[in-house]
Amino acid sequence: MTRFFLLLICFIPAIGFCQPDRWQQRVKYNMNIDMDVNNNQFKGKQKLEYTNNSPDALNKLFYHLYFNAFQPGSSMDVRSQELGKVAINGRVDWDARVRDRISKLKENEIGYQKIISLKINGVAQPFKYHETILEVNLTKPILPKGKVVIDMEFEAQVPLQVRRSGRDNPTTGVRYSMSQWYPKLCEYDYEGWHPTPYVAREFYGVWGDFDVTINIDKTYKIGGTGVLVNANEIGWGYDTPNSELKPTTKEKRSWHFVGNNVHDFVWTADPEYKHLVRKVGGTTLHVIYNYKENNPKNDSAWIEVADGAAEALPFIESKFGKYPYPQYSFIQGGDGGMEYPMATLLSGPGLGTVFHEWMHSWYQMMLGTNESMYAWMDEGFTSFAEDLIMKYYDKKSSLEGLKEALQKNPNNKNLQDLIPILPEDHSTAYAGYFALAKSGYEEPLTTHADHFNTNYAYSTAAYSKGEVFMEQLGYIIGATVRDKLLLEYYKQWRFKHPNSNDLIQVAEKMSGIKLDWYKEYFCSTTKTINYAIDSLWEEGGVSKIRLRRIGQMPMPVDLQLTFKDGTTEMHYIPLNLMFGEKPNEDPKQKREVHEEWRWTHPTYIVEFKQRLTDIKAVEIDPTKRMADVERKNNLLELKW
Ligand SMILES: [Zn+2]
Repeated sequence: MTRFFLLLICFIPAIGFCQPDRWQQRVKYNMNIDMDVNNNQFKGKQKLEYTNNSPDALNKLFYHLYFNAFQPGSSMDVRSQELGKVAINGRVDWDARVRDRISKLKENEIGYQKIISLKINGVAQPFKYHETILEVNLTKPILPKGKVVIDMEFEAQVPLQVRRSGRDNPTTGVRYSMSQWYPKLCEYDYEGWHPTPYVAREFYGVWGDFDVTINIDKTYKIGGTGVLVNANEIGWGYDTPNSELKPTTKEKRSWHFVGNNVHDFVWTADPEYKHLVRKVGGTTLHVIYNYKENNPKNDSAWIEVADGAAEALPFIESKFGKYPYPQYSFIQGGDGGMEYPMATLLSGPGLGTVFHEWMHSWYQMMLGTNESMYAWMDEGFTSFAEDLIMKYYDKKSSLEGLKEALQKNPNNKNLQDLIPILPEDHSTAYAGYFALAKSGYEEPLTTHADHFNTNYAYSTAAYSKGEVFMEQLGYIIGATVRDKLLLEYYKQWRFKHPNSNDLIQVAEKMSGIKLDWYKEYFCSTTKTINYAIDSLWEEGGVSKIRLRRIGQMPMPVDLQLTFKDGTTEMHYIPLNLMFGEKPNEDPKQKREVHEEWRWTHPTYIVEFKQRLTDIKAVEIDPTKRMADVERKNNLLELKW
């Protein structure tokens, strides 16, 4: 009945689009952990119910054993040291947090995860370690639609903090940052298994439900993914705001969390933690931070995190879709900002990072792109959102921030050159992308996140070029259509693993514009955009402006004419590959739509009836949203 109803909707385009029916594997974890805070080791029992929704029989399973990266000679260690040999503009390219630190870890400081036993439906399974990946060769295949129960016993040592997870980071003073801490099943999707070794980044997981009990020394306080089920037993603000940790006669306390419909689980623990709680609508926000006796500023900054997050949520939901989980925790821990479902680890209370990590709840935790393949779809879109939220919260654009930076350092040649050519919003991302495009280090966005030649190229591509992708998409299809697209993309793909084609398909349907060319040029190549005003003249009573495509990437062109009387007029030239046009973005301004510009043609002549002598200025893309690497040739001011 339901199926019939859905099919009906699919054939009526006016109502909506088909919910894409891509199968998803399903997990149900039940874990019980016994932590020894003296030797930083823990034993774990994991019962995993795994449902194979794929059409394939599975002969193998793969797990991530992330902690094994924190051992001298590991892939993460060697890769970091290799990148340490590269210097870009005088900066060593390795991650400053990793450097060669792994090579120096002692026996009691390394991380490891060891499997004691692994049984499926009671039968022991043979397995093999590949450093951070465990390969299990099944004694019996898991058939399509089959479900198995996998019982695992494991033990682990928490590494001294090096990257994301670990213990005793001196910057935060937090004892345990427990991300990537359990043997985590790799994802099997329409492309097959994704047993990606842990080298530097990123994460991809199976949707499901987590039920986690952590037994730890009674003085410790915990934050994490999910809802604390035994809040009444624990207290400490989880039952009612500002309540104390409840006394216990036992040496250890059990914290029981449940997180449903997520693809990972994080937790942290420290005896000095302080806990703030805010409620916005049906969502509880937790802010858990390391209280420092002598630093009253510390308190006020974390209070601002709690209040800022509460203030921003309605704005965020209006732009990006509803936050569907019962809680979210901003937890001091880790070594920067790192996102997890229903929680983030933050080394400090910076609001930009706070909003950025929270937005990963949309771009990664709900729209679960494979970060190794499409890092730009989560880091880039998250950065795009972060800029919007910061502007909403601060009422300030990133361009203003750059101008302030120039005021403080007026001799900064780079900023002097850049500021006149940057858009009002997202200007830091454009600046970062332009610098990368000119650096000679750029690699296509389609490069696997761990396989970029440099960290510089990876991070600028994923964060800045990914953000530019989204803002520039607004230039191509119109900003209001792009905004609607973000909500539709959320609606169609949340709790699934969309890829770049899926996003483009939604965008094409929303806009009526073909966009495959945009993805191919901007993501699969490093070709750049450069348009120029070539010449202008009058001929037989008609004014003509010749435009020239100098860059290798074609784009539609907004050409604005400013007349001496102060009025303006937009001349819009769609690209032939679009088979459509964007709506007039500024109804107050007159717009004329011209014939399409064929991508093969390096020049195009715009014709109009007004006299050239009436024109004060001609400008390509006055909103500066097109990532034109050479804007000097976009503006022509006429002095008659
Ligand atoms: Zn991020």
